[in-house]
Amino acid sequence: MTTPVLLTFDMDAELLWTARDPAGAAKPVWVSQGHYGPNVGLPRILALLKRYGIGATFFVPGQVVERYPAAIESILDAGFVIEHHSHTHTWSDTLGRDQEAEEFGRAAEAIVKATGRAPRGWRSPAAELTPHSVSLMEEHGMIFSSNLFDSDSVHLLEDDGRTTGIVEIPFAWPLVDTPVFMYSNRVTGRVMSAPSAVLETWTREFDGLSREEGTHFMLATHPQFIGRPSRLWALEQLVEHLLSSGRAEFLSCADYAERVRPGLVAG
Ligand SMILES: [Zn+2]
Repeated sequence: MTTPVLLTFDMDAELLWTARDPAGAAKPVWVSQGHYGPNVGLPRILALLKRYGIGATFFVPGQVVERYPAAIESILDAGFVIEHHSHTHTWSDTLGRDQEAEEFGRAAEAIVKATGRAPRGWRSPAAELTPHSVSLMEEHGMIFSSNLFDSDSVHLLEDDGRTTGIVEIPFAWPLVDTPVFMYSNRVTGRVMSAPSAVLETWTREFDGLSREEGTHFMLATHPQFIGRPSRLWALEQLVEHLLSSGRAEFLSCADYAERVRPGLVAG
């Protein structure tokens, strides 16, 4: 029995800061935290993935695709695909249907233009769905969603009581890097975790999940945080742990969704 391992990287760049604080675009230090992701963190991540020859998935907002063509090119050259992560990274729950439809359309267009491939999966920009998100995913031909925290296994996404053909690949906060590695000098008391402590959470999660049939292990990280040497150490130790378990199968979200979808739809 192997456990699918889905390493995901949300390359939000400066949008992680400016989408919540539009005035932040005029603050050079504030936005420079985001520039670090595509410019410095990403090359290190790609080198690590290449060293181990493992699959991964990149979720990138349309505006980041447009602003960082060389970074996108390097992801494609390394053999990975770009999935949908909104256009401007504006928190979905503040959007009306028309605005959210525009977010879907503009980002899909930017991704197709830059990569020649339509995105097949969507992750919301701020861990929330609106009443319109699922139907917009369907309109855009998405085969997977990576949004809910309801399970450790895939299932078909529901929309208002109706079962869709979209495979939900859930994850969870303990397997996300922002709660432990993101810092803000504007949030009093915010602290960062030691990479060794985070590594312990991640390896113990895998060890537990890999003992249960039908689960997957999904890690959701951001190049601006995980791309620092101390955090990449944790990621590399995790990869070594997974490989040495003999129970991990690294693959992209789209490949995993393609594999499980026929069975879920038939069931
Ligand atoms: Zn994001």
